[in-house]
Amino acid sequence: MTSINNAYAGLSGNYLFSEVARRVSAFRARNPETEVISLGIGDVSLPLIPSVIRALHKAVDEMACADTFRGYGPEQGYAFLREAIRRHDFLPRGVKLDADEIFISDGAKSDIGNFQELFGDDAVVAITDPVYPVYEDSNAMAGRAGVRENGRWSRIVYLPCTRANAFQPDLPDTAVDVVYLCSPNNPTGTVLDRASLTAWVNHAREHGSLILFDAAYEAFIRDDSLPRSIYEIPGADEVAVEFRSLSKTAGFTGLRCGYAVVPKKLTARTKDGRTLSLHDMWLRRQCTKYNGCPYIVQRAAEAVFQPGAEKELAAGLAVYRNNADLMLASFRRMGLSAFGGVHSPYIWLQTPDAMPSWDFFDLMLEKAAVVCTPGAGFGASGEGYARFTAFNSPENTKKALERLEKAL
Ligand code: PLP
Repeated sequence: MTSINNAYAGLSGNYLFSEVARRVSAFRARNPETEVISLGIGDVSLPLIPSVIRALHKAVDEMACADTFRGYGPEQGYAFLREAIRRHDFLPRGVKLDADEIFISDGAKSDIGNFQELFGDDAVVAITDPVYPVYEDSNAMAGRAGVRENGRWSRIVYLPCTRANAFQPDLPDTAVDVVYLCSPNNPTGTVLDRASLTAWVNHAREHGSLILFDAAYEAFIRDDSLPRSIYEIPGADEVAVEFRSLSKTAGFTGLRCGYAVVPKKLTARTKDGRTLSLHDMWLRRQCTKYNGCPYIVQRAAEAVFQPGAEKELAAGLAVYRNNADLMLASFRRMGLSAFGGVHSPYIWLQTPDAMPSWDFFDLMLEKAAVVCTPGAGFGASGEGYARFTAFNSPENTKKALERLEKAL
């Protein structure tokens, strides 16, 4: 029989969303007449904006003509898109990057999952708790996480994010090589301000660690004084990689496009003491294992960064933001403690009377036919919380909240 990567044998099953789906289908089978409303899933509900649709059609037509047809493109993305991103996302915020420090991909999940390949198997990784599971699982798959006991990996450093620290991770008190930060955060919906991000960058510079900064939800930031990119913090280009996505910004969850920023100043040491460029390593990795995001998708992505798109995108974001506002206001009226939701599509709700997350999930499903995501599924510190998302129609959001109010 084939010998496998033993690290996979130690992985927990993809328990959270499959268990949610199992309980929802059991409920549906028992209550076929009841309309279930999901405020659980982190997927957008609005269609693509007209500018993107136009760009897609045009690119498809180009592919139909010998003169304009495109085959393999550059593995790291077309220059037109890298340049558009540099000009749109970074220059206006005072961040100076070279376009070739931006690597286009089929989304942030792949980039985040793949990036850990560049680290040694002895690298010590820190993640927040609760956490977006890809950070933890991708390191576990690489065999870097140690042994799993009581839901935690022995070689991963967990940084609890609780009400006591306002869901902002404290700096680690042990030496770590890599830290994953996500702001605005999935699942807590909270955001790192300039002072805390500066503390993280300074800590990384002092300790020679690397920050992997996940900014997949930056478009939801409403306060312009909050950092949208870690590179707004001086010195971050020597210690941080940033991941971004068009999924939530522009509804690309199905179309697939994201990008990683890997500055040329980033270095890492080999075991025999040589210094290598992480930018060169990532380029080498991508050129070997990836053949690039489709041309038509990159043209669609380019349209997101053109002046005409801004208004169209803002209209969509406003729908999700209004849903989040309504949810926050309703939860608070119900006497519940709700966090996040201002600079994020996620609301992190503390369950009433410290009810366990899964009990709360069952209660919401049984009494209100509303689906949320149990906080415990994102890590031990998520116990006693539930994640609600603003990605539904205003009508469904309102209806779900009315049902919840009656149920509680
Ligand atoms: N990062 C975070 C924190 C996410 O929540 C998600 C998706 O839900 C992603 C990254 C993945 O984004 P993409 O759709 O670009 O792969």
